[in-house]
Amino acid sequence: MERDQNEPGAGKEAMLNLAGFLARSAVNGPGTRAVVWVQGCPVRCEGCFNPQFWSFEPADVVPVSVLAQKILSVSSIDGVTFSGGEPFAQAAALALVGEKLHDRGLSVVTYTGYTFEEILAQGTPSMQHLLRVTDLLIAGPYIQSLSCTIPLIGSSNQSVIRLSDRIPPVISPQHERSSTVEFTISPDGTLTATGFPTGRLVQAFSLRQMDEVHDHVAL
Ligand code: SF4
Repeated sequence: MERDQNEPGAGKEAMLNLAGFLARSAVNGPGTRAVVWVQGCPVRCEGCFNPQFWSFEPADVVPVSVLAQKILSVSSIDGVTFSGGEPFAQAAALALVGEKLHDRGLSVVTYTGYTFEEILAQGTPSMQHLLRVTDLLIAGPYIQSLSCTIPLIGSSNQSVIRLSDRIPPVISPQHERSSTVEFTISPDGTLTATGFPTGRLVQAFSLRQMDEVHDHVAL
């Protein structure tokens, strides 16, 4: 298991290396959520829909306080979803963001390519910290041969683990629909495609070739 790439230094504000941000999504966890995609993933699953998020080269580098404020400025959301990339590779900073959101009554959903058991047994203190501020964990690597249409996950080996009461145990009706995909066009013309597209849909829309519109396909 890789160490956190972004441990905060003494006296310095922790920074995050981000791949993308969406203010509002209805397909990345229960309710309406802001979504943060982090840059960098050491897990590198075969068939990953986001290989452009594997590199740890700096992308959009922001302080914890800036990201927290950006999320808190979005009205009427239930919380945030940390996706990637690998959120647990930037656990120290994301845990601090999560704490600030909890203070304001928002919930935290975290995706990870590690299993829950791996994080519990081998996770660094920062990773355990992120686990403690996570209300719903979606855990496990994407395994192409186990690809599925179960709500919130990409392959059937992955687990949805409720870690607090902040998120109700029911999955909302929109998550009963399988393979939900959401397209968002922001005021600057950026197109974001997110959710759980089938491989056929990804191919049909050539999403990974749409660099000019900065697409993001999240799993
Ligand atoms: S599916 Fe997730 S954990 Fe696996 S390589 Fe892609 S970003 Fe990393």
